[in-house]
Amino acid sequence: MLQPKDVMIGIDLGGTSMRALVVDRRNKILALEKIPTNPTQRPERTVTDLAGMVDEVVKMAGLTRANVQGVSIGAPGAVDPRKGIVHHAPNLGWKEFALGQKLNARLNVPIFVENDVNVGVVGEHALGAARGTDDVVGIFVGTGIGGGIILAGELYEGLRGAAGELGHMILDINGPLCGCGRHGCAEALASRTAMERDVRGEIKKGGKSHVLKIMRERGKDRMTSSVILRALRKNDPVMKKVLARAQFYLALLVANVVNLLDPECIVIGGGVAERLGEEYVAPAREQAKAYFLDPRDADKIRVVPGILGDNAGALGAVVLGRKRLAIQHAPRHARKPKTGAA
Ligand SMILES: [Zn+2]
Repeated sequence: MLQPKDVMIGIDLGGTSMRALVVDRRNKILALEKIPTNPTQRPERTVTDLAGMVDEVVKMAGLTRANVQGVSIGAPGAVDPRKGIVHHAPNLGWKEFALGQKLNARLNVPIFVENDVNVGVVGEHALGAARGTDDVVGIFVGTGIGGGIILAGELYEGLRGAAGELGHMILDINGPLCGCGRHGCAEALASRTAMERDVRGEIKKGGKSHVLKIMRERGKDRMTSSVILRALRKNDPVMKKVLARAQFYLALLVANVVNLLDPECIVIGGGVAERLGEEYVAPAREQAKAYFLDPRDADKIRVVPGILGDNAGALGAVVLGRKRLAIQHAPRHARKPKTGAA
């Protein structure tokens, strides 16, 4: 039987949906709930949705709020984990929102807030593809490209909590415009959004492609990872060409990361890596090696797809939340201010 205060809730708060997991001390998922996010509503309404989802998922696990140690959230955008504030989350329409404080007022349990990509990397490090390694970099490719860095087993957040923005490393100063307003960022060259732009561009130039038809058939207005996979299975020449270009830029990004940090493992996460697996990661891994400054033992650096899928963020949030809770309860002299929550 579970004792009171035995489970932690992990939440992945995304621009289109939010997912909550009830996780026990052995990191077993006891219940899972997923509901749509409504980015057009006021942030307070989303807090109500989050609180409702927590109560629901706890009930699904056959527990009550008394069993909950804390709620740990991965939120998109710029986040201050120490204060539980979301500074700026464009896909939620949030600015300077005190998410931790507001949700604590509803649920009356400790709330931890962290960047969504950071928790994804923590998840893959603690429980997924990078298990057992000390130095890990995560590159999450989706509508954008996010990154996270773990050094000596600890999440590296940087002076302002802004470390790991790998998607905005500039790979071609004359490259396409990025969502951040600069040109030639990795995100503008290798994200799913960049690939869709390039596929549409190739079709406009007369390229033969099934992509738009597949999107219509599946009722998708975006080129999702499942659309990409279907097009590849149909041997779509435009899709293959565009994917190969994106993989080349991903390889450059991987090589830059290796030259900077020489990590043990680079996990490529997100929808495309999840669906395509080795087919997506292997060409980038091979091409990256040509750009390693130090070619010795290049194969020792593992470049692998993530394995936790859509649960990576929520599971990582749980792991990080537990760590922060332990720090809060530790004697003052043993606290590490770098990772400590407020
Ligand atoms: Zn950018």
